[in-house]
Amino acid sequence: MKIVLASSNEHKVKEINDIVRGSGLEFILPPAGFDPTEDGRTFEENSLIKAKAAWELSKTWSLADDSGLCINALGGKPGIHSARYAETPRKRIERVLNEMKGIGDRKAHFACCMTLINPNGGVEFSYTGFCSGSITEEARGTNGFGYDPIFLVEGRGKTMAELSEAEKNQISHRSNALRAVIGYLTDLRYSL
Ligand code: IMP
Repeated sequence: MKIVLASSNEHKVKEINDIVRGSGLEFILPPAGFDPTEDGRTFEENSLIKAKAAWELSKTWSLADDSGLCINALGGKPGIHSARYAETPRKRIERVLNEMKGIGDRKAHFACCMTLINPNGGVEFSYTGFCSGSITEEARGTNGFGYDPIFLVEGRGKTMAELSEAEKNQISHRSNALRAVIGYLTDLRYSL
């Protein structure tokens, strides 16, 4: 079963295809012209905007994800602004560490909302996956991307950037949400 992944990021398509290998699902890039305005107020709204935009172009099964880092002491920031919190990945990390200076409560989580649109254009399934942790005092590790070096994974004693790709795929917010989507689609195919 082919599903359009509402993203123009080839790396993300590959990463997700690696996770679903053997499930009978295959994710493909959207047709040319995919460039939605992500002006929602929540991860759910943004993932719906992206999934709908991919469906408008493809008129077939379309899945979107929207994710980010939420820090308790910052009232959930950077949240939906995670990708734009500062100009570069390094500056984004610096901004968070500065804002967290002297703060004792360092609890945080990554969230990833996935929305699946069916070929008729209706919302078929939506699920938000989480990964709990806390913000370190300084960056550690070189794997992954984004805020991984400052996110200490709960129960692991390592930052996300100190985990291997396979370890991250077992516990990440994205793989958590993706597993729910795979489970839903597998049940759906058996019930058809
Ligand atoms: P997107 O919605 O997947 O494009 O993610 C938005 C932003 O959230 C990214 O640009 C990162 O800054 C941050 N983010 C999302 N997922 C992760 C992750 O797994 N590790 C680190 N940062 C992440």
